Amino acid sequence: MNHNQLNHTLKQLRLSGLSQTLPARLQEAAANRLPHSEFLELILQDELNVRQQRLLARRTKTAEFRSLKTLDQFDWTFQANLPRKQIDELATCQFVRKHTDLLLIGPPGVGKTHLAQALGYAAIQMNFLVLYRSIFDLVRDFLKDEAFAQQDRILRRYLKPDLLIIDDMGLKALPKHSGEYLLEVVMRRYENRSTLMTSNRPIEEWGKLLGDVPAASAILDRFLHHAQVIAIRGRSYRLKDQTATEPDEKNKQQKPPPARDKPQSKP
Ligand code: ADP
Ligand code: MG
Repeated sequence: MNHNQLNHTLKQLRLSGLSQTLPARLQEAAANRLPHSEFLELILQDELNVRQQRLLARRTKTAEFRSLKTLDQFDWTFQANLPRKQIDELATCQFVRKHTDLLLIGPPGVGKTHLAQALGYAAIQMNFLVLYRSIFDLVRDFLKDEAFAQQDRILRRYLKPDLLIIDDMGLKALPKHSGEYLLEVVMRRYENRSTLMTSNRPIEEWGKLLGDVPAASAILDRFLHHAQVIAIRGRSYRLKDQTATEPDEKNKQQKPPPARDKPQSKP
């Protein structure tokens, strides 16, 4: 058989996904005397698999994660008082289906960004559209939108995903217009699409962080209305890495962590 011709035909039909596995499949079919229908099913499944992988890769790229971390990479023994059952339940993405919101709150280094991205990736694997934005990305996006008079282009980008992740709310005070944009995003996504926020600031401070927009508290009420709030209280994982690698600390590993690195805020 002329494989070049076959590959060409597959390309024309946009079925190039199965061409990788085809030689092996042909051998398999001959060796096991597979019925034609079974062989056909096998190679079409190969094509589907490749397409699914490509879709996953494309959606992961579109989500613009900072550095993708998965739940498998999460060390549950380190963060022992984290409600693992609740996180596992969240990873089924029922909350995305129900359009409810999620807030991860806690001091720096306890894994909020890690978990937020891991849940985002779980959602992508279930074919949801996800977008990750840090508060810094968000401010930059909205300023750009204004500067280039592209009103609503960025807004649409924030409204479309099934799951929008806004990381580090409160790390930066928002310029007035960014605050208004963000509130509009929250409002329009309310009961319509899921939003996941992380913060190391208590909720009571958020009104101020949003630039004292008059409607801020009313709209935050909406975000919190159906939101699950998970407070993480543990130690910083970054600190763990530090004590493990710091050469000066070699002989004093039993020493408690310096006070400045202790988690300071209680939600
Ligand atoms: P936060 O967003 O709460 O400040 P991060 O999620 O950025 O914290 O965590 C800091 C670093 O430590 C990241 O590289 C993250 O992957 C890692 N990390 C945090 N908690 C854990 C954990 N329980 N298991 C494995 N890695 C963790
Ligand atoms: Mg973070």
